[in-house]
Amino acid sequence: MFKAIVIEKDEAGYRAGLREIDEAQLPDGDVTVDVSYSTLNYKDGLAITGKGPVVRKFPMVPGIDVAGTVRESRHPDYKTGDQVILNGWGVGETHWGGLAQVARLKGDWLVPLPEAFTPRQAMSIGTAGYTAMLCVIALERHGVSPDKGEVVVTGAAGGVGSTAVALLSRLGYTVVAVSGRSEEAGYLRGLGAAEVLDRAAFSQPGKPLARERWAGAVDVVGSHTLANVCAATKYRGVVTACGLAQGMDLPASVAPFILRGVSLIGIDSVMCPRPERLEAWGRLARDLDLVKLDAITNEIGLTDVVATAERLMAGQVRGRVVVDVN
Ligand code: NDP
Repeated sequence: MFKAIVIEKDEAGYRAGLREIDEAQLPDGDVTVDVSYSTLNYKDGLAITGKGPVVRKFPMVPGIDVAGTVRESRHPDYKTGDQVILNGWGVGETHWGGLAQVARLKGDWLVPLPEAFTPRQAMSIGTAGYTAMLCVIALERHGVSPDKGEVVVTGAAGGVGSTAVALLSRLGYTVVAVSGRSEEAGYLRGLGAAEVLDRAAFSQPGKPLARERWAGAVDVVGSHTLANVCAATKYRGVVTACGLAQGMDLPASVAPFILRGVSLIGIDSVMCPRPERLEAWGRLARDLDLVKLDAITNEIGLTDVVATAERLMAGQVRGRVVVDVN
């Protein structure tokens, strides 16, 4: 038997809680992992609270991130004792995930734990941090360098946002953080933000074009915020869009794209091909300040997961949440 968060949906309703599960119930997979840490991302919050249609099969063990040690493997790349991590691939959505003491997974989804990180640090980064890195790499690929001007990060006090601020400032960019929590301005400056702006100035309908300010952007918020960021992006600037914390809509005009040559780059971490994942984890090992990572991190246990997911959905959690599952 092992402990896990289980989400059920039936005539009694949608509910999540801590349960004991028989290992015989684990799903198919060629690698069995003794999980040490998992995390809570926005998507896990949606799944656990039922606020978004993330879970496709019931009962489901949520947890889109896994760190642990291989117990048994039929996959040629992994053997007993190997330290591994996993982000995405539908785990915690269609396949039982990491908020459990044991996970049975496909070896093709796994990445060896980067030497630079402990399992806890890798989960402190988690999908949120790896996605922030994908955004930074996309900005670089499209020509945004520190000398081009300011880079704006929205939803800055959240998981993706905090890691993006820390990464960009370490790489020499002038980072402007946008947050709805004025009390987190000191925290965001500590991560390297040069300026902190109130998200109220971004979240209402704006003009198709605004004064050119941003050389680049990492947007986790979507909706009017993303539209306003695009409208204020400089000639040939680059906006990376990875989230929908304000909304899934994009009430924008084409003006920034056709008059200023602005690029809007979509970022997906879930099905991202393996070579790009390995590149992102390699870059995190090089470019992420571990002292800042520590400052971003909150640790909880499995018993705290459901309550913390509610707080995450209410925008009350700062930075990243790692879950010690044991
Ligand atoms: P968090 O909950 O940690 O952070 C989200 C932040 O968004 C909050 O901290 C808050 O920042 C801001 N926010 C919340 N609600 C609103 C609102 N109504 N209007 C404006 N801003 C708001 O989540 P994550 O960092 O884990 O994820 C952020 C987003 O990125 C999510 O939408 C998630 O689904 C998406 N995502 C996408 C991935 C991909 O592969 N494309 C991978 C990972 C995440 P503040 O308090 O500073 O204003």
